[in-house]
Amino acid sequence: MSSPNEHFPADYRQARANFFAACEAADLGVTSRLHPGQMGADGKPLFIDVTTIGPREAASAMLLISGTHGVEGYFGSGIQTGLLREGLAQKVPEGTKLVILHALNPFGFSWNRRVNEDNADVNRNFVDFANPPGNDAYDALAEAIAPSDISPDAMKVANAKLRAYSAKNGAFALQEAISKGQYTHAEGIYFGGMRPSWSQTMLKDVFIEEKLFDAERLLVIDFHTGLGDCGGAEMISEELPGTPAYARAKAIWGTRVASSEGGESLSASLSGTIDKAVAQWLDRTELTFAALEVGTEDTRFVFDALRRDNWLHAYASADHPDAAAIKSKIRTAFYPDTKEWKRRVWAHGEEAVVAALKAIA
Ligand SMILES: [Zn+2]
Repeated sequence: MSSPNEHFPADYRQARANFFAACEAADLGVTSRLHPGQMGADGKPLFIDVTTIGPREAASAMLLISGTHGVEGYFGSGIQTGLLREGLAQKVPEGTKLVILHALNPFGFSWNRRVNEDNADVNRNFVDFANPPGNDAYDALAEAIAPSDISPDAMKVANAKLRAYSAKNGAFALQEAISKGQYTHAEGIYFGGMRPSWSQTMLKDVFIEEKLFDAERLLVIDFHTGLGDCGGAEMISEELPGTPAYARAKAIWGTRVASSEGGESLSASLSGTIDKAVAQWLDRTELTFAALEVGTEDTRFVFDALRRDNWLHAYASADHPDAAAIKSKIRTAFYPDTKEWKRRVWAHGEEAVVAALKAIA
């Protein structure tokens, strides 16, 4: 058996090649959706790639999504490809189907950004754009959260403002203000966009083409990184404790399940997520959805990386003398490239998928 370390890619292009090779070795076809307007950091085209194992008409289905947050795709892609290499296709229970969606936000993956080509957070993008949710706290703190000037003096002022907000309202209130999602500052962070993203449109298309709208039972794992202790894991449910969907998640993943709506999770309650959208799309389906969130670096490191990357793209240019350091920092913030981290998160990913396969059998 190969080491988990080898399943994780060095970049988007290698991730895609590995995914294709693993599908081919398992005799699985891949459907590719070409990004219509963007190229990768290597100047080559970008794709969302999908493979399906099992009968399309199956009433019980499972969906694994990687790269919703671009740069977090190293993790999800590594899990998808590694499991395929280790015989996942043979482990899908008879009469059920498994849809594997690789790199929902290939632009962010290739360019090492959490957001997409429009600086939009794909997992905040599923809202009614005629009437998007408000986020007054973000509006009040916008310049301090995502500064247009990252000189040490300007950062000092920005950080003092955030500390004051946190002292008055609590640290979690600050986290919520920052990360809940906002629809007013296109040059800011956790911006949900101004229109349905290409990734959103393609996700819906995958649901149509792979007949996920027809499933009676659907289990979804969306792979994320960046929140929590380094190498730790949480299965984030957006269902409230006490609901059937929450109970189903608990029965599958046990104590790892934490409700963001119920205040159990490291994550704040969020706007415009894929979880909420799918629940709306499939209102007659027995849906169990969890984001597998694995920890990377500490919160301050991750936040600093996001702000600097945002600044680089909104206010500077790729040839800025600090660009390479900023890009390296954001990659590390969402993908600590160490053997120990990979060993730990591989175990979380494998465990989550194995438990889900057992549940749909
Ligand atoms: Zn994420």
